[in-house]
Amino acid sequence: MANQDDQFKKVVSHAKEYGFVFQSSEIYDGLSAVYDYAQNGVELKKNIREYWWKAMVQMHENIVGLDAAIFMHPTTWKASGHVDAFNDPLIDNKDSKKRYRADVLIEDYVAKLDDKIEKEVEKAAKRFGDSFDKDQFLTTNPRVLGYKEKGESILKRMGKSLAEENLADVKALIEELEIACPLTGSRNWTEVKQFNLMFGTKIGASADASMDLYLRPETAQGIFVNFSNVQKSGRMKIPFGIAQTGKAFRNEIVARQFIFRMREFEQMEMQFFVRPGTQKEWYEEWKQARLKWHLSLGLGKENYRFHDHDKLAHYADAAADIEFKFPFGFKELEGIHSRTDFDLASHEKFSGKKLQYFDPELNEHYVPYVVETSIGLDRMFLAVFSNSLQEEDLENGTTRTVLRLPAVLAPTKAAILPLVKKDGLPEIARKIMDDLKWDFSVDYDEKDAVGRRYRRQDAVGTPFCITVDHETLTDDTVTIRYRDTMAQNRVKISELRGIIKEEVDVKKWLMKM
Ligand code: ATP
Repeated sequence: MANQDDQFKKVVSHAKEYGFVFQSSEIYDGLSAVYDYAQNGVELKKNIREYWWKAMVQMHENIVGLDAAIFMHPTTWKASGHVDAFNDPLIDNKDSKKRYRADVLIEDYVAKLDDKIEKEVEKAAKRFGDSFDKDQFLTTNPRVLGYKEKGESILKRMGKSLAEENLADVKALIEELEIACPLTGSRNWTEVKQFNLMFGTKIGASADASMDLYLRPETAQGIFVNFSNVQKSGRMKIPFGIAQTGKAFRNEIVARQFIFRMREFEQMEMQFFVRPGTQKEWYEEWKQARLKWHLSLGLGKENYRFHDHDKLAHYADAAADIEFKFPFGFKELEGIHSRTDFDLASHEKFSGKKLQYFDPELNEHYVPYVVETSIGLDRMFLAVFSNSLQEEDLENGTTRTVLRLPAVLAPTKAAILPLVKKDGLPEIARKIMDDLKWDFSVDYDEKDAVGRRYRRQDAVGTPFCITVDHETLTDDTVTIRYRDTMAQNRVKISELRGIIKEEVDVKKWLMKM
């Protein structure tokens, strides 16, 4: 645990020190769970967004984009169920005065049981050596089965109590399990209360004529209310999708995990409209497609897993998360939800407008079913960033900090470094930069010894350093240094564009899907 905490602290401080993520309004001591992206962070974030957009919109002729406003008519949130049901159960500790999500306290308790199972597996693997059969062990070992059963029954009871709004039982469960405040160990809890996560605001100048609004808690509803507009103007045929990226706002009860859980964040969502009855197939299809997208970035297959939901939201008939191994353990990165016709049917009811599709093959009108893929851009940023940050022991006994970002996402693709600040080398370096900057984001650096400059570029994830030296003056060659291997090759200046393109080309990365 201490190790995980240390690793996470390193991630947060590296993000700040190297200009990726700052706390919002830091000079006023910051605003809790709100962050700003700095010079390198904004590039990484933009590249992740583009990587998603290309895979979803550009590569699918039946998916189109949308950029709906953040403000929406307030009835939207009545229809979507957010006014009545977008709540989290909160509980306060009377001694520590800390506030928690009651369901998260219970889920963390169950996660500890999962850790115990992992430990049993590790122990048994050591004991049995090569003859160890993990699947058999997991399905037969009495201790493991005991932990599993306990965890499942806790989650089942919690799901039932939450669904029935039986908050007293959620509190009873916390007491029975003897769950204590993680900070102080106190078990002196308040009652559990529901808390609506939407931020309210007002539109209009005068107090009487103003109208209550919400900042959108998800981008999806902007897609649903535009379903007919897009379908008709784009002459879209089912199945088709509408994709959107943009800010969403949630007044999260507990927000202590850096950019993992923010109060203002960005989502990348795609709603895929299908014929009723085909939603299960599309749901499976999108689960696999989204996992492949993640795997294409090469962060390691073992760092992802699906978590199929037992407890379904009011609008869903199937749901799964793609979980990623963050520095604080496996947590939700993306959700894939089969949302049935809940949203469109509800907007029909509240607006009185038809939101239907005429299917020429069936010769009938229907409200389409929807399969949604929804990923947090900031969470994806944290996944990529934390996974890429590594400390390496080098052969010469020193260590280096290197951000092994997938080259396609790196904020800067190449840094051009004159070996010394004289003899015409800076001029050549600038010329190379002026030429390459039409195609790639590149950086120029002439300060300090070249070794230190390499380390600075390693720390921000730049895949290539290009060094101009005295030999360049005579034969138009430079050294190109690779971030990951630190290998250095001598190449012609005219070859640089091709070498960089090969490594950062979106097509090459997406083809791995
Ligand atoms: P969680 O259970 O972590 O609160 P959720 O199930 O409420 O998440 P969804 O409503 O399914 O999340 O939102 C889709 C995606 O949006 C999530 O998978 C996550 O990546 C992202 N997301 C949700 N809430 C936040 C937040 N507060 N900060 C950053 N990203 C978020």
